[in-house]
Amino acid sequence: MTKKKTALAVLLLLAALFMLAAAPDAALNESGEEEANIVLEESAAEPAPAPDASPEPAREGPTAPADLPDVDVHSWEFMLANSYNSVSFEYEMPLYAGIEAQGIDSRVFEAASNMLQAAREEGVPLYFSVAYRNMDYITTMYQKAIVAYGDAAHAADHVLPPGCNEHQTGLAVDITANPGFQANYYEYEEPELEDSPAYAWMMEHCAEYGFIYRYPEGKEAWYGTPCEHCHFRYVGVEAATYIMEHDLCLEEFLYFEDPSVLYVPGVSAERY
Ligand SMILES: [Zn+2]
Repeated sequence: MTKKKTALAVLLLLAALFMLAAAPDAALNESGEEEANIVLEESAAEPAPAPDASPEPAREGPTAPADLPDVDVHSWEFMLANSYNSVSFEYEMPLYAGIEAQGIDSRVFEAASNMLQAAREEGVPLYFSVAYRNMDYITTMYQKAIVAYGDAAHAADHVLPPGCNEHQTGLAVDITANPGFQANYYEYEEPELEDSPAYAWMMEHCAEYGFIYRYPEGKEAWYGTPCEHCHFRYVGVEAATYIMEHDLCLEEFLYFEDPSVLYVPGVSAERY
């Protein structure tokens, strides 16, 4: 190796050493941010926990409005029966009153009668096709559904099991514009009802008599069954006015008042 070549090799070696020595500083000074970004990206890209490793993310429960009425949701007017909450299996309405071809809780009789009368005085044909149903009837219907659909799980998609059907409380009514349906013993949805004056009248006036539109569309996750246009339910004038003005379903209202009185899948922490 000549002297010149040796000198060149030494220079190259020095240059390489210099670069090696300088590199960590350069990395720290110039790419500090980049390093941080990489760390963030890495943590963002972490795989989600396996579905069975943690419970379903809870649907965020709504926040109670400040102007809620002061009512006692433990009283009989707020008895809850839906797909997720049942009245006692042995519940039988304590105070029966006949209302035309149907039966109703006698504490609601006057309000319900006044409501029918007021509508008719305004020229609106309004009748109840279904109101109170006793446990025996509901149990029979459910048992028939189990036979028809194969098992209890499939039957429950079509007929609510005993305790879960609100007609058992004596506080619920299905409305019809057809007087011929008053004694109809089969609950079904009239497709034309939604466009009828009876339905429009009820949506405007039912709260004046303490009734609410029970199954508003889009809130099925709260009550667990398909929306039903014919079904109204008594809760008392104060709560009914608030519920109808705020477009709530009964479950939302109860949740605002006291979340412990009901179970809502994905919202309630646990069954009570
Ligand atoms: Zn109904």
